[in-house]
Amino acid sequence: MRTHNCAALRTTHIGETVTLCGWVDRRRDHGNVVFVDLRDRSGVVQIVSDPERTPDSHEAAAKLRNEYVIRITGRVSQRPEESLNPKLPTGEIEVYADQIEVLNAVGQQLPFQVSTAAEGETVKEELRLKYRYLDLRREPMAENLRLRHAVVKAMRRFLEDEASFMEIETPILTRATPEGARDYLVPSRVNPAQWYALPQSPQLFKQLLMVSGMERYYQLARCFRDEDLRADRQPEFSQMDLEMSFMTQEEIMTLNETLVAHVFKTVKGVEIPTPFPRLTYAEAMAKYGTDRPDTRFGLELVEVSELLKDSGFKVFSGAVKRGGIIKVLPIPGGDRISNVRIKPGGDLFKEATIAGAKGIAYVRVREGGEIDTIGAIKDNLSDEQKQELLTVTGAEPGALLLFGAGDAATVNKSLDRLRQVIGEQLGMIDPAQVNLLWVTDFPMFEWNADEKRLEALHHPFTAPHPDDLDDLKTARALAHDLVFNGIELGGGSIRIHQRELQEKVFETIGLPMEEAQEQFGFLLDALDYGAPPHGGIAYGVDRLVMLLAGADSIREVIAFPKTQQARSVLTDAPATVTDRQLKELQVVSTYNPEAED
Ligand code: ASP
Repeated sequence: MRTHNCAALRTTHIGETVTLCGWVDRRRDHGNVVFVDLRDRSGVVQIVSDPERTPDSHEAAAKLRNEYVIRITGRVSQRPEESLNPKLPTGEIEVYADQIEVLNAVGQQLPFQVSTAAEGETVKEELRLKYRYLDLRREPMAENLRLRHAVVKAMRRFLEDEASFMEIETPILTRATPEGARDYLVPSRVNPAQWYALPQSPQLFKQLLMVSGMERYYQLARCFRDEDLRADRQPEFSQMDLEMSFMTQEEIMTLNETLVAHVFKTVKGVEIPTPFPRLTYAEAMAKYGTDRPDTRFGLELVEVSELLKDSGFKVFSGAVKRGGIIKVLPIPGGDRISNVRIKPGGDLFKEATIAGAKGIAYVRVREGGEIDTIGAIKDNLSDEQKQELLTVTGAEPGALLLFGAGDAATVNKSLDRLRQVIGEQLGMIDPAQVNLLWVTDFPMFEWNADEKRLEALHHPFTAPHPDDLDDLKTARALAHDLVFNGIELGGGSIRIHQRELQEKVFETIGLPMEEAQEQFGFLLDALDYGAPPHGGIAYGVDRLVMLLAGADSIREVIAFPKTQQARSVLTDAPATVTDRQLKELQVVSTYNPEAED
């Protein structure tokens, strides 16, 4: 249908007759001359029609409207000096259209402008999602999809061509898993009263593939989790899912560093030095108060429980007495942060309380290195304690020291939050910097206070550290999370490959043997039939692409995302189904709208 892509034309084509197809990006009338920016996937080129030079196309040109689909044949010409456009790759030429054929018109008013020239104009997201096909015509969105493709392609190329991975599909109709998030369920018509679940991840299947001897599996896997859509989540999302046999954790991390460096190099042209730094979970929590630290800036936390447990300040001594901790966030140049912001009503006070703290105790380091105690701490630190505080924090004059005291989780959470907000506000973060690091040695389990039992921090198939087998409850896990500028990009582990140990872990999370057998019998059996040592990782593809695109939501890098209410406003899913369908499935709805209110 066409000889060239719009954006392919250059001065070397001058004099050639070309045929182009695409959309009318914009049409401008200059007296009798009509200018059309013609857009296809490659970009735009200027088309000209005037009564003198192109009499045959002029009538058609006058009728064109934005987003009409057209095909034109014309001659490539040099643009006159005054209309050169250095911003466009095709900005030195234009095409005089001898013929213009309308392949399809636009029958309705456009809900919003599509034109690349309209960039920056803000359209409500709901409207963009309803007319997603138009939204995706817009350059920034088209660019996001191209980037997504480039990322996935780079991963596939590396995994398949450099590292002998095989892509293998695993079932979408599978069985419900009690651990983890809520499942999406699908009723089985041929097995009445029985339900499939959509996979939350291909975890067990990829492990079974290792038992099958596949050795290196990957899959661009769609995963489903029926969670309340807090923050930036989608009910269905994509993971780049990997599993490999006969590799140590160290070898798995090294291979993945090469993979990630390859993606950054291919897609962004950025060299990332390998190996990536590693932090144990304990180190990450101690220094940053989080297991996904952003290490692009300092502001490291220091624990001072021992030093301040006997201070006259009740909040400090009380916290330690109740089994809690005291930590300090030292901020060099903190004299730029006023007391008002830290006291009740201030923005930093608010940040701390959102994280569960009751407030922020603080002191300032004055000229000459004198510690100035403020508010409730006033006069409650001894000279030795002050001196020691300066030593352990390395604080210099002008520094502000923010304290957190209480249970460890709350102290870490609130100081982590303050650290991030302040790092950002004081301009300590270089947005161009890429800090990738591994966090390892997570605890195997955490306490679920609601259910009064231990639950797996990653998942119950994660192997415990071989040095910690004597007491599984407090064991470290052979887990590894990959963190990018404070955001978790991927996570995985070495898996349990022996039945006995897997049974012990089920027991530790309070899963009775019978239930374990019923739910995971197939896995336990498989482990009994010669399962090799294996491990893996999964990357959140949506999040990775979002970060590389500099987008602020994963919806910006998914072609057809759902809203925060888990709806598709484009297709209007989910929707009711006919009674006949429900009858066939032997499913009855108990939903009662009146009872809802
Ligand atoms: N299946 C895990 C997840 O979805 C990742 C892994 O352990 O490989 O988080």
